[in-house]
Amino acid sequence: MRRKIVAGNWKMNGSKDLAEKLVGYVRSESESLDNGVEVVIIPPAIYVRDVVEQAADTLAVGVQNVGQWQSGAFTGEISAEMVKDQGCTFALVGHSERRQIFGESDDMVAAKVERLVSCGLTAVVCVGETLEEREAGRAEAVVAAQVKHGLASVAADQWSRIVVAYEPVWAIGTGKTATAEDAQTMHASIRKVLAGIGAPAESISLLYGGSVKADNAAALFAEPDIDGGLIGGASLKDKDFVSICRSMPAGT
Ligand code: PEP
Repeated sequence: MRRKIVAGNWKMNGSKDLAEKLVGYVRSESESLDNGVEVVIIPPAIYVRDVVEQAADTLAVGVQNVGQWQSGAFTGEISAEMVKDQGCTFALVGHSERRQIFGESDDMVAAKVERLVSCGLTAVVCVGETLEEREAGRAEAVVAAQVKHGLASVAADQWSRIVVAYEPVWAIGTGKTATAEDAQTMHASIRKVLAGIGAPAESISLLYGGSVKADNAAALFAEPDIDGGLIGGASLKDKDFVSICRSMPAGT
């Protein structure tokens, strides 16, 4: 059975107060979740320790980015080892905001994935096409190239630490969601690409991200190749985020 995951990416939002109140609420509500979903909170790195304390081993915690090096003179960066040291088990890699605003290339994504999985962390590798690429009929080719390149250095015994998040760039923070059918089509295509590069495709969790809300999560999560969600805006609203976590069907 594949891991079912709902991860909340706070982006550059939140505060110490939110870390206490929202995470406390999500933790207490998640104790009654019976659908096997792993709930992950991904705050700005500076609040990771506060969130880890609030999460109290009930929720997983991740970071939004790591440096691609082990250690050294890289001012402003944090390493996968440091992330693990602070109690995190997940990290996002290649979020479209990092690719577009900070020039994160597929080579950098691959190097970060390598650092994360060799430290035993789960890398959530984000891929997705722009609106222009979709309209040009290139969505599947663009995503396939990102998957192949980003996962090029994963060794045979490291695949259990890989999660892929499909996030069409045109759907992130825009209120536009891919239809459940379109998302399913892309997820099935990603699974084929994974099989083609020798990954155990059927056991790798594929998350959908892009304006997932309490009222559209259930339809997305009902699709056979959608194993969870990467949630931005709605993860900052405690009740909405819990409702999304509850939308995961049990026993799939
Ligand atoms: C994200 O930040 O990964 C995301 C999907 O954002 P939103 O849910 O706000 O579209």
